[in-house]
Amino acid sequence: MDHNFKSKAVLVTGSTSGIGLGIARAFCQKGYAVMVNGFGDGDQIARNLEKEFGNKVLFHGANLMNPNECEVLVDACHKAFGGLDVVINNAGIQYVSPTEDFPLEKWDQILSLNLSAPFHIIRKALPKMQENKWGRIINIASAHGLVASTGKSAYVAAKHGLVGLTKVVALENARNGITANAVCPGWVLTPLVQKQIDDNAKASGITIEAATKELLGNKQPTFEFATPEELGDLCVFLASDSAKQMTGSSYSMDGGWTAQ
Ligand code: NAD
Repeated sequence: MDHNFKSKAVLVTGSTSGIGLGIARAFCQKGYAVMVNGFGDGDQIARNLEKEFGNKVLFHGANLMNPNECEVLVDACHKAFGGLDVVINNAGIQYVSPTEDFPLEKWDQILSLNLSAPFHIIRKALPKMQENKWGRIINIASAHGLVASTGKSAYVAAKHGLVGLTKVVALENARNGITANAVCPGWVLTPLVQKQIDDNAKASGITIEAATKELLGNKQPTFEFATPEELGDLCVFLASDSAKQMTGSSYSMDGGWTAQ
C-alpha cells in the first residue's frame, strides 16, 4: 500500500447519501482531502466528517445533470486542493418501468446522470492527472453494468455504457500512471433500493420485510446486502499504489449475483 495518503485529494459524486457517503467516509479514514457532492445538507455532512476525521472535507452542490456544472465541480476541486488525484463517479438514479412505457424524461435524466456526468467529469479531470502521471478513476456501475433485469432499460443501458467508458479511459491512459475501473455492486440497502422495496411491497400487497427478502432472494445468492462501508474499502484499495496494475476491469461486490 502507499503511505502518502495525506497528500491526495478525492472527489466522490453523490456522496450526501448511501454508497457515496460510505466511500467518502472510507477516504476520510485514510486521510484524503475529500470533496463531497450531491443534494441535501452537504455542508453539514462535510462539517461532520471534518470533525470526526480531522482532515479537509468540502462540499459542492453541483447538479451533475448539467454538463457545465460537472466541469465547475472539477475546477472547484483543483482550486481547493491544488489537484485532484482520485475521481469516484458515484451519483446515480433509478426508475423502473417496461420499455414501451418508459417516460422519455426519465430516460434522459438517467442517461445524463449515470453515464454522461462521469464522461464530463473524467474529461475535465484527465489533463491534470496526465500532467502528474498519476490518477485513479473509479466508476460506480452496478451488477446492471454486466447483466440485465426487466424494467430497467435506461439504468442497464447507462451502466453498461459506463463499463465501456471505463475500458476506453483505461486503455487511453495505460502509460500515464492513471487507472480506470468500474465497481459493480449488487443490492446495497440505500434510499435508492429502499424505494424499489417499498414500491414492490405496495404492488404485491406484501410487507416491507417480505419484499426485502424477495428482492434479495431473486438476485443475490448470499441473501445479504453489501454495505457502503465495504464498497468504500474496495474503492480505497483501487486508489492505492498496490492496485496500479488493476485497470480497465469491473469489480463485482454482488453476493454472487453475476456468477449465476
Ligand atoms: P442514493 O440515492 O442513496 O444516493 C444517490 C446520491 O446521488 C445522493 O447523494 C444524491 O444527492 C446524489 N444525486 C442525485 N441526483 C444528483 C444530481 N443530479 N447531481 C448530483 N448528485 C445527485 O443511491 P445509492 O444507492 O447510494 O447509489 C449510488 C450509486 O451506486 C448509483 O450510481 C447507483 O446506481 C449505484 N448502485 C447502487 C446499488 C444499490 O443497491 N443501492 C447497486 C448498484 C449500483
